[in-house]
Amino acid sequence: MRHNDTNALPDAPGQLDPPRCVDCHTAMRHSCTEETETGGERRIYECVKCTSTQSIETAAA
Ligand SMILES: [Zn+2]
Repeated sequence: MRHNDTNALPDAPGQLDPPRCVDCHTAMRHSCTEETETGGERRIYECVKCTSTQSIETAAA
């Protein structure tokens, strides 16, 4: 009998939803990704409406 584990979703970094702009709440566009000093990554998002930017750092696994 096969074990069918439907709860095991593949771990897919990079599939995160873009953040909302703090000023106008528009969904922000991913601009670029930089590597941090600690081996994690920093994603830069920019608002297409008011051009404000936001960076989100994710720690290394
Ligand atoms: Zn905005």
